[in-house]
Amino acid sequence: MIPIAKPLIGEEEINAVAEVLRSGNIAEGERVKRFEAAFAEFTGTSHAVAVNSGTAALHVALLAHDIGQGDEVITTPFSFVATSNSVLFTGARPVFADIKENTFNIDPGSIVERINSRTKAIIPVHLYGQAADMKSILEIAEDHDLIIIEDACQAHGAAFEGKKVGSFGTGTFSFYPTKNMTTGEGGMITTDDKKVAERAGMIRSHGSRKRYYHEILGYNLRMTDMAAALGLVQLKRLDGFNEARINNAEYLTDRLNKIKGIRVPYIEKRCRHVFHQYTVRIENDIPRDDVASILNSKGVGTGIYYPVPIHRQPLYKDMGYRDSLHVSEKAAQEVLSLPVHPAMSKEDLNTVCITLHEILC
Ligand SMILES: *Cc1c(COP(=O)(O)O)cnc(C)c1O
Repeated sequence: MIPIAKPLIGEEEINAVAEVLRSGNIAEGERVKRFEAAFAEFTGTSHAVAVNSGTAALHVALLAHDIGQGDEVITTPFSFVATSNSVLFTGARPVFADIKENTFNIDPGSIVERINSRTKAIIPVHLYGQAADMKSILEIAEDHDLIIIEDACQAHGAAFEGKKVGSFGTGTFSFYPTKNMTTGEGGMITTDDKKVAERAGMIRSHGSRKRYYHEILGYNLRMTDMAAALGLVQLKRLDGFNEARINNAEYLTDRLNKIKGIRVPYIEKRCRHVFHQYTVRIENDIPRDDVASILNSKGVGTGIYYPVPIHRQPLYKDMGYRDSLHVSEKAAQEVLSLPVHPAMSKEDLNTVCITLHEILC
């Protein structure tokens, strides 16, 4: 079976974690500080704050910007549910804008239509590893005095016009095992704003700057030194991982382009797409779900990100969401992700192409 995702953990990662275990200092400590500094440098921001998941990064970023009850946050429904659930955690209301048909990323025109006096922030998601249209989004944010919180949980190392994602607004990253780099579970907030970084650091640890002195309400969302040790090694390897993903994607596109009924990923000229996912549209007579199950039965793993847009999830329907967001809804029916991860061999890539050819031609 060729899996849809596979973390690459080597001896160096194992030794780095073992060293922390042997040291006895296993909770948040020196390694977390070093990982934060290295990640800030990688992203090109002045600060980074480590937490224990991407969801926590989004939650803490929103709270650090003082977003809560009475506020609205515009985001995309074509994402993992954590993006908008983090808004719900704060008591604010997620408002959904539709996506662009070619990139699957939030449509700036649709954002503008949803701005009102309660709107406080925009959360663009850099879906599948490709940056949203940050030029337009920055202009909108400036015109309407809105905060930008980037959901870069799928886009470590992606860039827009040469600038890394996570450095346009307040950035949030996930280090879940399927992502471009991993710490097991983990997350990071990136920012150039010292105050936001300070507040985020407090919120992740019961609102304290100094142990047992609590200035604001916070949580325990800290990263462990074991996770940070793993992250330090993975971060060194990230550029190599991303190169492999990009090369794999290029190979797949060259071959799959020739098959009728498959639409290969669109790469925006201004973007460095790091292919967290390689996602095609199935526009064939054979339904997408059938294509997926045949691929699976022939040993090719697949993923559907995402089969139900967030505004159509039972949780959101129960809250009264009734939006019609046609581009997102159509995408949810057609998308199919194929393995593109750096652990794939040339033979694996070939197998994916041949198998798809057999099914669709
Ligand atoms: C993975 C992911 C998250 C959440 O990250 P976790 O580490 O799983 O909490 C949020 N948004 C997007 C787009 C993701 O892909």
